[in-house]
Amino acid sequence: MSFVQVQCTRCKTMFRDRAGRLQDGYSRQCPGCEVVLFFAEDSQHPFIKRAMRNARKARKEQYEADAARRSASSEPRAAPRSRSSIGRTRVQERSD
Ligand SMILES: [Zn+2]
Repeated sequence: MSFVQVQCTRCKTMFRDRAGRLQDGYSRQCPGCEVVLFFAEDSQHPFIKRAMRNARKARKEQYEADAARRSASSEPRAAPRSRSSIGRTRVQERSD
């Protein structure tokens, strides 16, 4: 899971939170000053807006990475075992 940087609107502390959580309606306490930060799509605060935008981007990248991994793993792979057995055979032939 990817993380995004969030900046507290009160004390300006930078901290990280999961991109998957930073969605409309989410709220959390600042680790610095303990103020509760509300994350809303229609927030007017630039720090909140930036965090929401970064989270959305991170979620999209995560989704695309997962999709790429899924399609890659479904493709038939050349067995890495055959390559190492060829190498071993060659070593055995040389030692004979
Ligand atoms: Zn704070």
